[in-house]
Amino acid sequence: MGNAATTSPPTVNAAVANAASASFAGLTAKLDYLSAADVEQVRAAYRFADQAHLGQLRNSGEPYITHPIAVAAQCAEWKLDAQALMAALLHDALEDCGITKIELIERFGSPVAELVDGLTKLDKLHFNTREENQAESFRKMLLAMARDVRVILIKLADRSHNMRTMSDMPKSKWGRIASETLDIYAPIAHRLGLNGTYRELQDLSFKHLRPWRYATLTKAVTKARSRRRDLIQKVQKEVEAVFAGAGMPVRIAGREKSLFSIYKKMQNKHLSFAQVTDIYGLRIMVPTVIDCYKALGLLHQLYKPVPGKFKDHIAIAKLNGYQSLHTTLVGPAGINVEFQMRTEAMHVVAESGVAAHWLYKASHPDASADRLGSQWLQSLLDIQDETRDAAEFWDHVKVDLFPDAVYVFTPKSQILALPRGATIVDFAYAIHSNVGDRTVAARINGEQVPLRTELKNGDVVEVVTAQVSSPNPNWLDFVRTGRARSKIRHHLKTMEQEESQSLGLRLLQQAVRAEGFADLPAENAEYGPIWKKLLGFTGSKNRHELLTDIGLGKRIANIVAKRLVNLLTEAGYKSDALLLTRERFTAHESNGVGAITLDGSESASVQFAKCCHPIPGDSIVGYLGRGEGLVVHVHDCAVAKKLHHKDAERFIGVDWSEDPVRSFKAGITVTGINGKGLLAKMATALAAAEADIVDIDMGQESAQEARQLRFLIAVRDTAHLEVALRNLRRTQHVIKAERSGAASSG
Ligand code: MN
Repeated sequence: MGNAATTSPPTVNAAVANAASASFAGLTAKLDYLSAADVEQVRAAYRFADQAHLGQLRNSGEPYITHPIAVAAQCAEWKLDAQALMAALLHDALEDCGITKIELIERFGSPVAELVDGLTKLDKLHFNTREENQAESFRKMLLAMARDVRVILIKLADRSHNMRTMSDMPKSKWGRIASETLDIYAPIAHRLGLNGTYRELQDLSFKHLRPWRYATLTKAVTKARSRRRDLIQKVQKEVEAVFAGAGMPVRIAGREKSLFSIYKKMQNKHLSFAQVTDIYGLRIMVPTVIDCYKALGLLHQLYKPVPGKFKDHIAIAKLNGYQSLHTTLVGPAGINVEFQMRTEAMHVVAESGVAAHWLYKASHPDASADRLGSQWLQSLLDIQDETRDAAEFWDHVKVDLFPDAVYVFTPKSQILALPRGATIVDFAYAIHSNVGDRTVAARINGEQVPLRTELKNGDVVEVVTAQVSSPNPNWLDFVRTGRARSKIRHHLKTMEQEESQSLGLRLLQQAVRAEGFADLPAENAEYGPIWKKLLGFTGSKNRHELLTDIGLGKRIANIVAKRLVNLLTEAGYKSDALLLTRERFTAHESNGVGAITLDGSESASVQFAKCCHPIPGDSIVGYLGRGEGLVVHVHDCAVAKKLHHKDAERFIGVDWSEDPVRSFKAGITVTGINGKGLLAKMATALAAAEADIVDIDMGQESAQEARQLRFLIAVRDTAHLEVALRNLRRTQHVIKAERSGAASSG
């Protein structure tokens, strides 16, 4: 739509109404390929959009609605269906006018609303980096996000119109928008075979990025064209005569290089303007595929072909569906002329690519699709015939276009490609293993989400890290990338060893104190021989391995300590008698000096027994299982008592630290009167106590009056657990609520 100044209007309102209805009249003139009912629907969408944009103006001063109308008109050029035209008319209504998606569904149906919604989502993406591989990812993301090819087509029409009217925009915006068009939208148009749009977007971007270059080049091209006009007309006449003589009806058209392609060629190949433009192009449209080859024969007899310049893009079509025969001939006065031979159907595909599918259907309602020739489009049309579903159709196209990946942004607009199904943890490890290892929380598009959340195309992902944090073994359940998996495993292994080692150290120190030595002998020349003998006794490679083995319960600290003390005594070192009595005296108490304190930050090396689920406030004991590290039980847990009976030397003193760093799981059993909503009431009571439900065992569904449910809930300590139980007991229909597993710690 033009931006030409209108003649002075009688009133502003009348002028606005006139401009809008004038441009809409221009659109309806193009809708003759639609049914009357469809045109009526398009009209309804126009009226709605017009109302929504009322009072808004474009930079040119024209009413805003002229823009959606122009976008719809471009879609009508491609002969897109009524739904697409309606979406084109409404494409800016969701964002700018406070219209909701629900409203669009009610008025125009969900297919139209989905198209508009898809367009709105694309509008939110911004590309602002100059790196080439990033542009490629961004294009893929854009294509992957569009669930329907019509969304991309409308988007390209939208961008085309914005580029055509860019001179109305403030100059400060030209650079960003024009380079985005050049890096993102023009290549997409090319990939989808929309060559007309591709060339136009390139030239318009060029014009606004390098206005001076563009103007000079335009002048030079016009001049060169008029200089060679006679020569080209001569070639055209000779060619026409040859085809007339052979009785083949053809359509001959001159072929202009786009300004941008001339500019690029001069730049990339260091050619002069004359070298680039001294080649002329003619395109010959013939009735059938065989005629293309006949035409080639005729031309090669008329002029001499340039060796190595013949290409058969009919037998082997280009990736985007393009088909033609190419050859370069030496014409009169020795000028080179490039010829392209193709059928009309190939021409439609060559200019409009994906859109050719609608174009061809509209102009040949009865023709069979194979007239289109292109294998690529042919297969698309087959799919379309089978599915009749634009979304599915597009999915098939997409499989062809890019691999199974999602494209997401970092907060700094870096784009990352991850396999489909990847989660936040995969993302974090893709950035850096340091980030992955320390991830504690994440936001997607500004909203807090769980770490297992699967990423979607276009998500802006922000990872929150904490210096003290470390990978959670549970992450292995949901990560998708091998990188994340191996990094997590590696970290856990190292961590386990470090923890086991430090636990082993504490245990051995404790045991040595009980034998009357204040600490382990140092690792130096003086004690070297003693350590060597001790390691010989245990068969460990080194001190680290010995301590790790003790921490993992593979060796008993007391036995190692006794041996060590023997070695020390043999070497003449004396035990501290006072220390000996004190340690002996307190040794039977679990809270003895040197007891291991726990705050919940321990990872795989310390486990809280599932039989009794100890929580802070419980009196606890530690059992050093064989190879499984330290297992913590409530002191009067039945399982622990049994273990103590046969394995007393494997028990060590443990205690809670003053400030546990996390909540712990506690098992509770709740009995209630069977009925609807019982579980919901219990859940509410627990929520009110701020106790998260970790797991629910519903027990057996029974017709009985009373029903027993088991919960695993997360609580800070025994006092918190009491609050939760009290809340439950006060709940309607709850008969009983108590801690299960271990006997209550009172
Ligand atoms: Mn727009």
